[in-house]
Amino acid sequence: MHELSIAQALVEQVEAARLANGGGRVVSVEIRVGEWRQVVPEILKSYFDHLSKGTPMEAARLEIDHVAASARCGSCSEVFALDDIFLICPACGSRACELLTGGELDLVGLELDT
Ligand SMILES: [Zn+2]
Repeated sequence: MHELSIAQALVEQVEAARLANGGGRVVSVEIRVGEWRQVVPEILKSYFDHLSKGTPMEAARLEIDHVAASARCGSCSEVFALDDIFLICPACGSRACELLTGGELDLVGLELDT
């Protein structure tokens, strides 16, 4: 259900951007998704297709750019790549880590056919 709520938010965001850019049909949508989000692209795409049916973004191509997750330790300042969902420093074991990249969920591009 995680992807469903993301797809719903995405459809709303695309619609707002479409209207702000003069309307028309949506040809393609480009989003940036961080790995920390644990989004399964195929599931997100199928929800997007489902929710966009009958709207001006029906049949729009959804392009997903992935962003690798990384974090910085607040205790020892180690910067590390995150390959699971736990924010734990591999150098000192601290949990006081801050996500640097990987939390993205942004609409970065929209192609309209006006
Ligand atoms: Zn550390």
